[in-house]
Amino acid sequence: MEPLSSPPRVPAARTANETGKGRFSPPNSSVPCGTAKKKGFPFARPVRYNGRRLELTDRRSNAMTTRQNAVWLYLGSEARNAEEIAAFAEWCERNEVGKVLVHLSLSGRHPESAEQRVAALAEACGSRGIEIHGMVSTLHQRVADRDELTLRDKSYYCVDAHGLSNYEEPITGHGYVLDPRHPDVVRTVSAQCAELLRQFPGLSGIHLDFIRYYHYDSKLVIDTKSAGHWIGLPKAGQPIRLETADGVKTTFFVEQASNVYNDPPIGDKLVLSRTYRYCFCDDCLDGFERRYGVTLPDAAADTAAKASWILANRPAEWAEYRASIVTNLVGAIREAIRGVRPDASLSAAVWYNAPYGNELRGEPMLPDSEYECFGQKWWEWVERGYVDFVCPMDYWMEPGSFAGVVEGQIRKAGGRVPVYAGLLRTPEYDVSRERYGEYARRAEEAGANGLCFFHYGSWKQLL
Ligand SMILES: [Zn+2]
Repeated sequence: MEPLSSPPRVPAARTANETGKGRFSPPNSSVPCGTAKKKGFPFARPVRYNGRRLELTDRRSNAMTTRQNAVWLYLGSEARNAEEIAAFAEWCERNEVGKVLVHLSLSGRHPESAEQRVAALAEACGSRGIEIHGMVSTLHQRVADRDELTLRDKSYYCVDAHGLSNYEEPITGHGYVLDPRHPDVVRTVSAQCAELLRQFPGLSGIHLDFIRYYHYDSKLVIDTKSAGHWIGLPKAGQPIRLETADGVKTTFFVEQASNVYNDPPIGDKLVLSRTYRYCFCDDCLDGFERRYGVTLPDAAADTAAKASWILANRPAEWAEYRASIVTNLVGAIREAIRGVRPDASLSAAVWYNAPYGNELRGEPMLPDSEYECFGQKWWEWVERGYVDFVCPMDYWMEPGSFAGVVEGQIRKAGGRVPVYAGLLRTPEYDVSRERYGEYARRAEEAGANGLCFFHYGSWKQLL
């Protein structure tokens, strides 16, 4: 086989057990970038590339490599042809990347070129001992139209604490969140993960993104000082539906209304809120009652009242119940992919706090809130052997707090699996070279096995 390019010789970093140092080696600037000059797409059949048969073996080779970073990759915008793939593989080698998390659709619907690109990636990276993992949005799908959904029944989608179905009112009009308790969801998602491994034989494993409940408390404060002649006098508890011209509808609820007269307006503000907390569908509520021997009071007649009672009276059991549901799904996915490819790995992206980006917004850190709010008891996934590594999304934090968060994650992982601390760089959250060095040092000192660059397209500008 003719390789896409000759792999540059970069001294491999040694593991922490060997030296305790060197896991975040600075990029080797002497390595030329983009030296490969191969023809671009279209590719031939999936098993062939540039007229050559691809050897997609040694998928778990990284078990023996010493590269300690990971990176997220968007296939459609960052690895579109042979030149970009070659440049990417060289970038990975330069930056000690051992695991590439490439975004793939869980539905299996991909552009025809996707299989060839992944195969080419696997070859270009495989020759350097770098693994490719298929990263999927496990429980969250964003589609323009419901017809694009794989599961097309209301019962498969979550119901929030107001009793509103996500299927009826998708998040921002297009976001559909599956109910991880529904047996059909568990079966379908697990089978889809397994199918991806069949469809993309170059993958070393599956990386679960959005393996959690959707959770957000949204609030709008409207200045109504001059709000005469509008929709009347909103009352506390009343639903108000916001709708854009293109048909996106979101229901909010009046939390506080100060106006007592409409013409002239007397009062100064209207507070609207919407609580995206899931899943309070009838089956999830029944399961909760059975699991914990809880009987919801007769006075709690509707879903909103039941949710309110549970959150006020049984918050610990509710958190445990939801986490167990997500853990069960992770276990089912593990089992399904083991059935297809026993050597394939499973990994996950996990959050560090809810709401995420709290430091950026001046909000307090809430330890373990990823468990309570997102249902991510990910250390249990580790303990049970469901996942082989985790990539916490430690975004939007100063290096000092980043270090503290990573230390906590290392403790939770208990040394059982590698932890790659996710580091974000975007136009909205720029990271300079000097600051990158600070993050890398802090992560290493905290005990992380490496960094997980989110994502290649932004980090390649710097490193
Ligand atoms: Zn449910």
